[in-house]
Amino acid sequence: MKKYIIAGSVALLLVIGLVWVIVQNEPTSVSGGKEVAMAKDPVCGMEVSKKGSPSTVHMGKTFYFKSEGCKSRFNEDPMKYMNN
Ligand SMILES: [Zn+2]
Repeated sequence: MKKYIIAGSVALLLVIGLVWVIVQNEPTSVSGGKEVAMAKDPVCGMEVSKKGSPSTVHMGKTFYFKSEGCKSRFNEDPMKYMNN
């Protein structure tokens, strides 16, 4: 009987862990815009994830890019893209 209780507890912990992981992976931009996880690439206009995307800071604002190519194009002429 004790074995079943232990196995049950382990299974329950696994389920709780799984639910927790799913909740943690929810895109933060959906929850009221507290922290926006996505940004617009000013060069090509594509939506990019702030996490892991190339970024540069220009005049105190951080810009995110789909690729290093977009980033270097931005750095060549930031004013051209800043209002996008
Ligand atoms: Zn781009």
